[in-house]
Amino acid sequence: MMQSLFRFAPSPNGLLHLGHAYSAILNFEAAQRCGGEFLLRIEDIDIERCSLAFEAMLLEQLAWLGLAWRQPVRRQSEHFGDYVLAMERLQQQGLVYPCFCTRAEIARKVNSRRKGLYDPDGAPHYPGTCKHLSTAERDRRLASGAYAAQRLDMAEALAQCGTLLAWREYGLGEEGRDVRAEPMLWGDVVIARKDVPTSYHLAVVVDDALQGVTDVMRGQDLFAATSLHRLLQHLLGLEAPRYRHHPLILDATGRKLGKSRGSASLAQLRAEGANPRDIRTMVGLA
Ligand code: GLU
Repeated sequence: MMQSLFRFAPSPNGLLHLGHAYSAILNFEAAQRCGGEFLLRIEDIDIERCSLAFEAMLLEQLAWLGLAWRQPVRRQSEHFGDYVLAMERLQQQGLVYPCFCTRAEIARKVNSRRKGLYDPDGAPHYPGTCKHLSTAERDRRLASGAYAAQRLDMAEALAQCGTLLAWREYGLGEEGRDVRAEPMLWGDVVIARKDVPTSYHLAVVVDDALQGVTDVMRGQDLFAATSLHRLLQHLLGLEAPRYRHHPLILDATGRKLGKSRGSASLAQLRAEGANPRDIRTMVGLA
C-alpha cells in the first residue's frame, strides 16, 4: 500500500493561534498513527502579506509543540512555474478568460441587480462582464498593460467535465462517505489573481498532487472549497486525495479564531506560561 502523506499548510501572514495548533497536531498524529509522513507547506503566494519573519516564528512554534516534519519544508513561492503550467493547460482547454474588473466595479454591477448568487465565501458571483469581451478588445487591453485576473469559465468547465464529481470524506472518524461536489456554487471564480499567477485554489490542488499528498486534513471552513478543488483536479488530470475536514476551534462567543479578531496567539499563551501540554488541553486533545 502507498505510504500516507499528510500535510499542514499555514500561511505566514501572522502568528499561529490555537486553531493552527489543533490542525497541525491532528495531521502530525494521524501520519504517525498510520506510519505515514508529515509535510509542512508554507502557503506564501500572498507576497504582500507573507513574511520570512512570520515563517521563522511558525516553524519555531510548531517545533515547540513537539512536531517534526519531512525535509525540506515546501514553499508555494518556489512553485510559481508549476502554477503557470497548470494555468496554461486550462487556457489551452479554453476554460479561463482574463478579467479586468476591479472589486468596486463588480460590486457596482452586482448591486444594480435585484438579487444575485453568492459563493460559499460570501463573495458575489462574477456577473460575467469580461467573459463577453471581443478577442480584439481583450488583446487591446492586455497590450496596453492592463492588469488581468484569470477566471474559470464555470459553465464551460462543467460542460467539458461532463461527469458528476465527488470526494471521499473521512471527517475525524475512519468510515468514509461520498460527498457530491458542487463546483457551480463558486461561479466564475478567480484562479489566477492580478498580482500573482495563481490563487489559493489552483496552488493547493497543484501542490497536493506534486508533493504526493494522500490525505488532506483541514478545517471545516474549507469544506466548500473542496468542490472546486475536485473540479480543478479533474480538469488538470490530477488524482484526488482523501479528505478529512475537522471542526474549528471557536472562541467563547462561538466565532472562528483569527488574527483580525484578536484571538490569543500561541506565542502569547506561551509567554503567559502555557506549555505544549496545556495547548493540547485547550484544543481538546489532552
Ligand atoms: N493555507 C490555508 C490556511 O492557512 C490552508 C489550506 C489547506 O489546508 O488546504 O487556511
